[in-house]
Amino acid sequence: MSKVEDFLSVQEEQEIIAAIRKAERSTSGEIRIHIEKHTDADHFDRALEVFHLLKMDNTRLQNGVLIYVAVDDKSFVIYGDKGINNVVPSNFWDATRDIMHSHFSQGNFKQGLIEGVLQAGLELQKHFPWDVDTDEDELSNEISKG
Ligand code: CA
Ligand code: CA
Repeated sequence: MSKVEDFLSVQEEQEIIAAIRKAERSTSGEIRIHIEKHTDADHFDRALEVFHLLKMDNTRLQNGVLIYVAVDDKSFVIYGDKGINNVVPSNFWDATRDIMHSHFSQGNFKQGLIEGVLQAGLELQKHFPWDVDTDEDELSNEISKG
């Protein structure tokens, strides 16, 4: 039986964390990744649950973004907090989703996550620019595993 750890080596995980750090240098938005094998729940509902479990609703500008992946279900959800949803069009995450989907469908799991994180950072930058005076790393960049 496969485990979540089998999908990413330690090295790959570090590359993804580096991508999160890089993305967060251009935006005040906070990006996190949660990976698990499977859920019986609706994927969107589960992403929302994880978002709250990780206390991602505690950012100052309510601009946390969770990339939730259920590996065995071949499903992922990009969920942004209400500070984002209030100011962006409803198709805001489409480009990020498409990039991730194209990598995932070719089996490039790590690259899909990296490109997704970087794209999310670019999108967020337009609405939530990074501010040298106020920026903090509000949410851990480590990958959460379920
Ligand atoms: Ca930050
Ligand atoms: Ca962070």
